[in-house]
Amino acid sequence: MSARRLDGKPLAEDRKTALRGEVAELARSGNAPRLAVVLATSDEAARSYARAKARTGQTLGIEVDIVDVARPTTAELIDLVAALGRDDAVDGILLEFPLAAGVHARAVQDAVAPEKDVDGTGTVALGRLFRGEPGFVPATAAAVLALLDGHGIEIAGRRVVVLGRSLVVGRPLSQLLLARDATVTVCHSRTTDLAAAAREADIVCVAVGRPRFLQAAMVKPGAAVVDVGTTVVDGKLVGDVDYEAVAAVAGAVSPVPGGVGPLTTVMLLENVVRAARLRRGRAEW
Ligand code: NAP
Repeated sequence: MSARRLDGKPLAEDRKTALRGEVAELARSGNAPRLAVVLATSDEAARSYARAKARTGQTLGIEVDIVDVARPTTAELIDLVAALGRDDAVDGILLEFPLAAGVHARAVQDAVAPEKDVDGTGTVALGRLFRGEPGFVPATAAAVLALLDGHGIEIAGRRVVVLGRSLVVGRPLSQLLLARDATVTVCHSRTTDLAAAAREADIVCVAVGRPRFLQAAMVKPGAAVVDVGTTVVDGKLVGDVDYEAVAAVAGAVSPVPGGVGPLTTVMLLENVVRAARLRRGRAEW
């Protein structure tokens, strides 16, 4: 069997086209959406992700300000984020991770105004997600659902195994899948016989951060596999799935690069536009 390739790029382009229209409509009334990206780190990868978000945002007409703060304290970052929360011109606030060493990340995340928490990582957003209520959802988790939906992969009633339980990917993804009536198992570094759990799944979502972690023997024939992992190995981006071997067993596999990645930034920018519309009374949850 040779698996179907779950390409994210065409889906991302379609969503960008739709988003461009929404942004243009907001801009016509003088309300072009604006995202503030708080960059409180010297981490090169984080700095390059922030620049990439700014570039993509600008191509859609979304204003993206990178607020670069060198070596901040927790109190300084909380003040900054609170000021952005009061600034009427700012629709969304994103904290680029990792934050500078020594900063109390959770305290800063919770200082982001819930109506501007487009990253969906504050306590209010995560609480809403857990309760199954609409709200801002972390972009990567939303991207996995957009990829499955975009390729017509049924979620309701199916067994889904999520590998990884981080607050940005595994946990929110498991809640989104549960809200869509999947039967969800979450595995992590303390799971015993993870391979057996993965083999039960109709859909496997891998967000572990270990190159080629998911092997063919861990996949049920015909299953759909979504690879969230991104690790740079010898200058190349490598996923968490042993693609060639898994594609020989699975029914569908997403590539890295080109699968979840292209959708992630678009999902974030969709949150920004949603925040702008909500703040101006032009949308409801
Ligand atoms: P993370 O915070 O490091 O979490 C990794 C998770 O994997 C943890 O829950 C950990 O378990 C689990 N894990 C690690 N080693 C394992 C093992 N040997 N067996 C079973 N479980 C194991 O990472 P993350 O932020 O969720 O990111 C995961 C991957 O997704 C990374 O490669 C990251 O770069 C990528 N990512 C991609 C995008 C995108 O747009 N494509 C966006 C965000 C992240 P414990 O909880 O027990 O430690």
